[in-house]
Amino acid sequence: MTTDGAALRVVLATNNPGKVREFRRLLEPLGVAAVTPAELGLRLEVEEDGASYAENALKKAQAYADAAGMPALADDSGIEVDALGGGPGMHSARFGGPGLDDAGRTALLLERLKGVPAELRMARYRAVVAVAWPGTAGREPALFEGVEEGTIAEAPRGERGFGYDPVFIPAEGQRDGRVRTQAEFSDEEKDAISHRAKAVRAAARWLREVGA
Ligand code: IMP
Repeated sequence: MTTDGAALRVVLATNNPGKVREFRRLLEPLGVAAVTPAELGLRLEVEEDGASYAENALKKAQAYADAAGMPALADDSGIEVDALGGGPGMHSARFGGPGLDDAGRTALLLERLKGVPAELRMARYRAVVAVAWPGTAGREPALFEGVEEGTIAEAPRGERGFGYDPVFIPAEGQRDGRVRTQAEFSDEEKDAISHRAKAVRAAARWLREVGA
């Protein structure tokens, strides 16, 4: 079944402004309109206590779909640093505890990697996107994953993006003798390679196939 261009609308299971901006940029060109919980007057706290990105994404998507009475799209994502045994991974948003902001978490990551040489600073962003329908719809949720490989810089650089972007050097940021962090990429450049873009585009294409 296809939707023949009919409008698809999902609620995003986040109010994180960085993520909302990226979701909208990615979904709208593919014909999927996104509303935020705040725009629907929804205030929901979903505890991210799952054992995997997928569990957390599904839990968030289902909670928002049920509360909004419409399909919901959630992502759970993180940065995985090889020299930290794959951490902070699923715990990236809370790395260092609740007192830290993005800059604080980034500084802590650099601190933990002090003395680790460039060739051992491999890392990747991973995003798992879940799409769920309200329980009454009787439809199974679906999962989509995207990965972006890179390394961790020695110091933050760049003003764009959010989270760990100022210290994440995508593999694509190390071409032609220049080294750029993700925060030095334009939105278009980030969307061409990012973990979230890969997962969200797969989800949007699938939504257009099955209809919302
Ligand atoms: P969560 O998906 O809400 O658990 O948050 C994931 C966390 O991983 C974010 O708060 C960021 O710290 C980090 N993260 C995920 N994706 C990105 C990205 O595209 N850029 C920078 N940081 C990211």
